Amino acid sequence: MISTDRASRPYYVPIGNEEHVFKAAFRQGMSILLKGPTGCGKTRFVEAMAYDLDRPLITVACHDDLTTADLVGRFLLRGGETEWVDGPLTRAVREGAICYLDEVVEARQDTTVVLHPLADHRRQLPIERLGLTLDAAPGFCLVVSYNPGYQSVLKDLKESTRQRMVAIEFGFLPAEVEEKIVAHEAGIDPKRAAELVRFGQAIRRIETAGLREVASTRVLIAAGRLVAEGLSPRAAARAAVAGPLTDDSTVTNGLVEMINVYLSDQPG
Ligand code: ADP
Repeated sequence: MISTDRASRPYYVPIGNEEHVFKAAFRQGMSILLKGPTGCGKTRFVEAMAYDLDRPLITVACHDDLTTADLVGRFLLRGGETEWVDGPLTRAVREGAICYLDEVVEARQDTTVVLHPLADHRRQLPIERLGLTLDAAPGFCLVVSYNPGYQSVLKDLKESTRQRMVAIEFGFLPAEVEEKIVAHEAGIDPKRAAELVRFGQAIRRIETAGLREVASTRVLIAAGRLVAEGLSPRAAARAAVAGPLTDDSTVTNGLVEMINVYLSDQPG
């Protein structure tokens, strides 16, 4: 779990009307679904929104062992006494924070029991172990992200709950925006960034057979950061794009061919 209070606004380049939609939903006390593939700006967006709305942000990276108790809290033994310790969701509900459940589909199905009454108009968190139900403090906002490719918990959310949530779609960025972001985040020359982005976009166009996910903005930034350290774009893309995307040698060869076509071997 990561809890953030920032001194300056996280760098976020708006793509459409997502900031307006988020802020409108926040003011109405609605929950928000961020849909889209990994590495396309969802986390950065929530960080920027938390800053603008002046709310603390509590982020939980969901995984398949995540239980309701991990989110809500549990009794722990401390110095011979049992003591209740709030989980991140309970803290967010009490503090009026934005609670961001990243990759919520990974969480176990039983977590939907607590998410239901929080996500809909009730804005309540039942804490069974304490025998109480908390009303969410003003400013609390439940935000979940997921990759529509693999649904589980969300499929399990009742239609009535889903329909009380507001969805914001994320996708791959337009080339000129992505170039600007890669240059900014990696601290490299815009021309070098443009070269990496053209390569990334080529991978997305061919949807290389055998790749679970295509190249995200995140991996292009990672390649850019290696270029900033003096690696050639080719070496950087092999290490930061081809390696993470696949273990398959045929697919790797295909990617390396593309790297040699799109990227230079001159160090950055
Ligand atoms: P996700 O949460 O969708 O997996 P992230 O928010 O971590 O993705 O995005 C990956 C990286 O891409 C971020 O660290 C950020 O550097 C960059 N990024 C993506 N979209 C944007 C954007 N619109 N504005 C600024 N940076 C962005």
